[in-house]
Amino acid sequence: MLIVKKFGGTSVGNKERIFNVARRCIEDYRKGNDIVVVLSAMGKSTDELIELARDINPSPSKREMDMLLTTGEQVSVSLMAMAMGFMGVPAISLNAFQVAMHTTHRYGNARLKRIDTDRIRNELEQRKIVIVTGFQGVDKYDNITTLGRGGSDTTAVALAAALHADACEIYTDVDGVYTADPRYVKNARKLDEITYDEMLELSTLGAGVLHNRSVEMAKKYGVQLVVRSSLNENEGTIVREEINMEKMLVSGVAVDKNATRIAVIGLKDEPGVAFRLFNALAKYNINIDIILQSVGRDGTKDISFTVEEDVADEAVTIIQKCFPKSDYKKIDEEKDVAKLSIVGAGMSSNPGVAASMFEAMYDCGVNIKMISTSEIRVTVLIDEKHTEKAMNAVHDKFSLAD
Ligand code: ADP
Ligand code: ASP
Ligand code: MG
Repeated sequence: MLIVKKFGGTSVGNKERIFNVARRCIEDYRKGNDIVVVLSAMGKSTDELIELARDINPSPSKREMDMLLTTGEQVSVSLMAMAMGFMGVPAISLNAFQVAMHTTHRYGNARLKRIDTDRIRNELEQRKIVIVTGFQGVDKYDNITTLGRGGSDTTAVALAAALHADACEIYTDVDGVYTADPRYVKNARKLDEITYDEMLELSTLGAGVLHNRSVEMAKKYGVQLVVRSSLNENEGTIVREEINMEKMLVSGVAVDKNATRIAVIGLKDEPGVAFRLFNALAKYNINIDIILQSVGRDGTKDISFTVEEDVADEAVTIIQKCFPKSDYKKIDEEKDVAKLSIVGAGMSSNPGVAASMFEAMYDCGVNIKMISTSEIRVTVLIDEKHTEKAMNAVHDKFSLAD
């Protein structure tokens, strides 16, 4: 069997953890399997590198940021190869350049386009364990790129797809995918299985346990994933197309604190205004999430929407550039908000779900600022300071605990 195993930052956070990962990989290697390991940077080292950069230059070039951040993964893969060597097993570390993992040119958020598998296959044929840097790629001009925070999961899934691996295992610091982030919801329960679609919604809506593009890619190429802990032998969660269990009404709760609400107040209530507004933002690649337009009154209307916090100021500047001051009254920016979502494949045929969620917000005294829904999701925007209380209330409402 060819197995791709990915280990996150906590799992390789220190010497003991590195040897623990080496031991787990060697166990499967000794059974005769081919092993490709994908690693994140050790512990919080990516965050530390970001701090280091900000201290030098508060708005560094994106190219240089990628150049810097990819060093973290290079540390962990080389140390891992040394650990395995120490344990008497031949291993080789490769970075994205050496593998040839081709991505788009977009620094900080590049997309994988193609992976050459020749080098990896060659090394595997020589019975080496191959250890690859997660998170990084190379654009067509040989610049180093990164796939976005948490992107090592995507590297692993892409490698599993490219190598037609028999298994893709994502090892992390929790036992699998839970009904909510176990750090905030103490009654959160581990799921045995979850569908790609539900997992994709959860990860897009803030469940950082899997990078959302890794789930997108797993679905596209039919890579079945197992999410499990590197620190124990528990079974983990299987992510796949169809699950054997009955579809749950709600399978999970996710939260995203990286949201800002922007409200453009007093716009003219006439055709073309929304088009102008969102077209301008799209041109600058600003992703818009929830959109709300008020009922027109006295010839004016308000349009509010959410964007990721780090692009919020840029979004406001773009609007100010595109609309003359006389076209609106003011722009409000609210950063201390969080998006709270419930996700479940069974929800589409059950009309009471949204109401129950709103009731949970009412029960815990949390005001809803915006609402958005899809077939398998309901999202509300709330004050960030109420996040934990609201998460627990919603989680209990849908009896997601054991
Ligand atoms: P890694 O470094 O292994 O990639 P991450 O920190 O990226 O680990 O992801 C694991 C973390 O995701 C957990 O520690 C947990 O707090 C968080 N998390 C958020 N939502 C969920 C969820 N629904 N199930 C499990 N973990 C979740
Ligand atoms: N080291 C990167 C990060 O912290 C990538 C990853 O861990 O997946 O975002
Ligand atoms: Mg991660």
